[in-house]
Amino acid sequence: MKIISLEKDIFIYQFEPAKGSYIGINIFMIQHGNECIIIDTGYRRHFVQVLKDLNDKGLKVSKFILTHFHPDHIGGLLKVKDADIIGSIFAQDTLKRYVENYQKYLPTKVVVDKDTIIFGRHTIEMEINKGHSKDGLLITLNNKYMFVGDDVISDYHGNPSIPFCSEKDTLAHISSINMIISKSSEKIILPTHGKMLDNRDDIVKDLIKRLTYLHFINENRNATYDDFYQETKISFLGRDWHVLNQIRKVI
Ligand SMILES: [Zn+2]
Repeated sequence: MKIISLEKDIFIYQFEPAKGSYIGINIFMIQHGNECIIIDTGYRRHFVQVLKDLNDKGLKVSKFILTHFHPDHIGGLLKVKDADIIGSIFAQDTLKRYVENYQKYLPTKVVVDKDTIIFGRHTIEMEINKGHSKDGLLITLNNKYMFVGDDVISDYHGNPSIPFCSEKDTLAHISSINMIISKSSEKIILPTHGKMLDNRDDIVKDLIKRLTYLHFINENRNATYDDFYQETKISFLGRDWHVLNQIRKVI
């Protein structure tokens, strides 16, 4: 685990990918006095290490905010008692699909549309953003950092991973990428898996690749990943996920 300080009171706990994988885990910590807010927890094994560091520093977790409720984002929630769990109104739908005894992980405060938290000098804005997952939240800190959950995934060199529509809803993912494009100018993008993006050209290039892919599969449901590559010459990591995106969502 590496601890990266973005500012004196904003940190990333960064975990290397497991052997054979390119997907690492970032856990974000925002500090005010002796309290902190955690954005995404990783799996339990990751958060145990974060919690040890917080304990060593005398910091108490007052709130968790979740970009969405997939198991690799919520694994640490039950390690802290009495902290608020803040997440999308749609959290329950996702939890039911992935987690046994899901009731323990439900948000104690739900975001229905938009919400704002003031935490010392920090302003945290949260907005429903259905994309990678139905219960996605787009989270902005101090009008400077944007936490995009799994709507943008890369390795730690910034090589993009293929967009993954966990509910096969490509149109929702197109909307979420468009929302990130429209709101991210002058901001630094922080994915839960992968490299921070702080250059506008890199951000736009990455997001356009994602949009190109999502539009392609939306219009060519039976096309293979190679068909996509032949037509666009855009290359992604994680191309095995392509087949998981292909079946149209049943409404
Ligand atoms: Zn994830």
